[in-house]
Amino acid sequence: MSDCIFCKIVTGEIPGRKIYEDDEVLAFHDIHPVAPVHFLLIPKRHIVSLAECGAGDRDILGRMMLLAPKLAHEQGLDAGFRTVINTGHGGGQEVFHLHVHVFGGGAGLPGF
Ligand code: 5GP
Ligand code: ZN
Repeated sequence: MSDCIFCKIVTGEIPGRKIYEDDEVLAFHDIHPVAPVHFLLIPKRHIVSLAECGAGDRDILGRMMLLAPKLAHEQGLDAGFRTVINTGHGGGQEVFHLHVHVFGGGAGLPGF
């Protein structure tokens, strides 16, 4: 998607503070962190949102879920972290390229 900001981070067209990359997944720090550590996990392939995923996306979704705790640990979030996937306008999604927020650190996060 030529006008997608996260696709542009994948290609390097715009900079991103990358923390992990493989053939299918990229992770980089959120530009507006809501916690001391806040990064995003995205598929390199443009997928609009969780609502657009199907059975063919099982592997990429599984990869991202399994990477979340691994990267959280590498980022020092040993006390725990929160994962959030905003889906659609009603879910507060602003960038329409699937992403998993992972954040935590500091004094910790309130429960809800
Ligand atoms: P959403 O509301 O779609 O779930 O979250 C989008 C996230 O992307 C926001 O937390 C926002 O700060 C982050 N974001 C938006 N544009 C950029 C950017 O150009 N670079 C980075 N690193 N993060 C971005
Ligand atoms: Zn994209």
